[in-house]
This record gives sequence, structure tokens and C-alpha cells, in this order.
Amino acid sequence: MSVAEQLNTGSNVGEEAQILDSIEKWMERDVRPHVKHFDHADEYPYEIVEQMKEMGLFGAIIDTEYGGLGLSASTYAKVVERMSGVWMALTGIFNSHLIMATLVQRFGTDDQKNHFLPKFASGELRGGLGLTEPDAGTDLQAIRTKAILDGDHYVINGTKTWITNGIEGSCFAILVKTDPEADPRHKGMSFFIAEKADGFTVSGKLEKLGYKSIDSAELFFEDYKISKGNIVGGVEGQGFYQAAGGLEIGRINVAARGVGIATAALNDSIAYAQVRKTMGKPIAQHQAIAMKLADMATRAEAARLLVEKAAAAYDAGERCDMEAGMAKLFASEAALENSIEAMRIHGAYGYSKEFDIERYYRDAPLMCIGEGTNEIQRIIIAKQLVARNPV
Ligand SMILES: Cc1cc2nc3c(=O)[nH]c(=O)nc-3n(C[C@H](O)[C@H](O)[C@H](O)COP(=O)(O)OP(=O)(O)OC[C@H]3O[C@@H](n4cnc5c(N)ncnc54)[C@H](O)[C@@H]3O)c2cc1C
Repeated sequence: MSVAEQLNTGSNVGEEAQILDSIEKWMERDVRPHVKHFDHADEYPYEIVEQMKEMGLFGAIIDTEYGGLGLSASTYAKVVERMSGVWMALTGIFNSHLIMATLVQRFGTDDQKNHFLPKFASGELRGGLGLTEPDAGTDLQAIRTKAILDGDHYVINGTKTWITNGIEGSCFAILVKTDPEADPRHKGMSFFIAEKADGFTVSGKLEKLGYKSIDSAELFFEDYKISKGNIVGGVEGQGFYQAAGGLEIGRINVAARGVGIATAALNDSIAYAQVRKTMGKPIAQHQAIAMKLADMATRAEAARLLVEKAAAAYDAGERCDMEAGMAKLFASEAALENSIEAMRIHGAYGYSKEFDIERYYRDAPLMCIGEGTNEIQRIIIAKQLVARNPV
């Protein structure tokens, strides 16, 4: 059975192991041998993206009735973790696309679901999420991109920045102000599903420390006309609430990416520490290095369990902003700490482009910034602690 056929078999418990096995084999065979080339050349992996399309990854968590794989958040998180252990940047190509799809699946009208979800699932329409602007990241309510009603359509003006898949994608869920004067501000915010057309242009690729190959870009809207029918859910004013719903799956996915990097840094270190010898013995036998390995393994395992807990709550339809926040916070910090510890364990080789450690070290910090910074995760967690434990 092909990888695509195995992935298309669904996601109940018995099938999860088979799906993960297929992903691991595909990553080892078709992806790992090319990662260094794509990452160092900062080149988009077109052939691999075609394979991802065939495998159905662009529809991983889209319901089967719309042509998706219908994976649970729990299985999806494990897929993301396995892939990130080989190449984290690759997961960005379908993850932010799937946040857009989740917005339509959870909050869209029937017409929007029927129109967009099959195209998202097949990868015919690919894209991502447009929240951030040059002057507004964490403070989403400060965005300035406006959509003004003009007869049977809206006219959008404004700029989004740092948008993943901005160049290679063709369709984005963009958060705008439909009522810039609204008080409170969040009541004047709405999401549109915007396809590239006249009035919607894109910058060149933004240069980054890591997360190479995948395109991050600015999106420019200049008198861009869009149908009323593209407002997610069909009514204005729901955007801020919808963003919060979409970000939960986004945070679980970033956390899973963190687990992937933390685990890869650990596994490479366990192997290296047994073959590199100093003072007549493998460095794994020096207590200083053994302690690092123990801490790295504990962090990776704790992060994995937090992701599993958050994904299980999401699948059960429970409120999981605190759980997703904890998983995202802990797993991203675990990725960062494990990548620097792996570099120390590898000595000069960790700093070399011949090894993968330097890539983990460049990729990990993004996990602490994306989908809500870790400072903001702490605020969400603390607010929920109080809200769930009133005195
Ligand atoms: C590679 C990459 C890809 C990205 N992809 C996307 C994408 O696809 N779509 C998208 O919309 N965005 C994307 N982003 C943007 C990302 O979501 C934002 O960078 C992030 O939300 C933080 O916003 P900011 O950079 O404007 O930082 P700011 O909001 O300016 O924050 C600066 C610092 O202040 C802290 N801070 C801010 N407010 C508070 C507060 N109230 N209390 C305590 N601390 C606070 C922050 O935690 C941070 O440490 C991407 C970013 C990168 C680097």
C-alpha cells in the first residue's frame, strides 16, 4: 500500500500506529536525505510538497466528508512531531494552511465549507493565516487592515506581515477591521477567506535566522474587492473570537513541533555521546554530560505528555486554552534548551553545518514566538488558573 493509501485509511486507534509508521518511512526515505540542501540553500521543496499533496496532508484534520483525512488532533500532533524531528520547517507548509481550514470547518457557513474545504484538503488551494501586521502582533486588536462594505462586496486596504506561505500559497484567512470604531475593539473584527487577485500583492521572501525554505512574506491589500460571501461565518464581528478558536489547534501544533526538535536534539546527543571519547572514555560516561542527557530526556518526555493532554482535551471538545498554552510554552522552551545543550554536547561539531544541531538551534526560537509568544502563554495560563479556581 502506498504512503498516501495508508494515510487515507483514517485515524482510529488501531490505524494511528500505521499512519505514524508511514510518515516515518516517508521522512527517512524521501525527505531526510534532502533537508540539508534545502535548508542551507533556503530553497522551497516543490517535489516534497507535491508528495504531501498526494498523501493528503493538506487535509490532515479536515473532515472526511470534505475529502480530508479526518485525523484527530492527537494523531495530527504525533504526525507533526515525527516530521519536525526530521525537518520542522516542512510542517509549516501545511500547518498554517490547516489553521485556515479549521476556521472554515468550525465557523464557516455551509456554502463556505462546501466550496473551500475540498479544495483545501486536496491542496488545490493552499495558504495560511494572516493576523500579524507591521504594528500589531501580540496586540491583535490593534490591527489596521480595514474591510469597508461597498454594495454587495467589501474593499480591503492594509498590510499583513510575516505570513507563512505568503508567496507559494494562493488563499489566506485574513483578520481585518470591519468596524474600526467599535468599542470594545474586538467587536469590530472579522475574518475573510481571501484568494490572490487584483489588489492583493505579495512582497519578496523575508530573510530569517532559521525556518528556512518555507516562505514568509508581507501581503499587501490595495482596494482589493472581496465578496460578502467570503466573511467567515457570514456575519461581521466574529473574527477575534474565531481567532482564539483557531489558535488552539495552532498552539498544539507548535508544541508538537517543539517536541519534535527537543527529541531530535536528544537522540542525536545520545548517539554522539557514546562515540565521542575524551580522557579515554565516551563522553556519555562523564557525569556532566550524563546529567545533560537526563535533563534533555525529561524535558522532551514532559513536553510530549503536555501535548498529548492538550490534544486529548481538544478532541473531547473541552475548553483547552490553558492546556494548549502550557504545552506550547513548555515544549517550545524544551526545544530551545535541548538544541543548545545538544550543541554543547557536540562541541565544535554542533556548530558545524555538517550536523543537524545548528539547524535545530536556528529553528527552535520561532516556537517561542509563533502562535502567541511564550510571555502571552503565561498570561493565558495564569488567567485560566484564576478563572477555573474561583475563591
Ligand atoms: C517565521 C515567522 C513566521 C510567522 N508566521 C506568521 C503567520 O503565518 N501569520 C501571522 O499572522 N503571523 C505570523 N508570524 C508573526 C508572529 O505570530 C508574531 O511575531 C507574534 O505574534 C509576536 O508578535 P510581534 O512580533 O509583533 O511581537 P510584539 O507583539 O511586538 O511583542 C514584543 C515582545 O513583547 C511581549 N509582549 C507583548 N505584549 C505583551 C503583554 N501584554 N504582556 C507581556 N508581554 C508582552 C511579547 O511577548 C514579545 O516578547 C510569524 C513570525 C515569524 C517570525
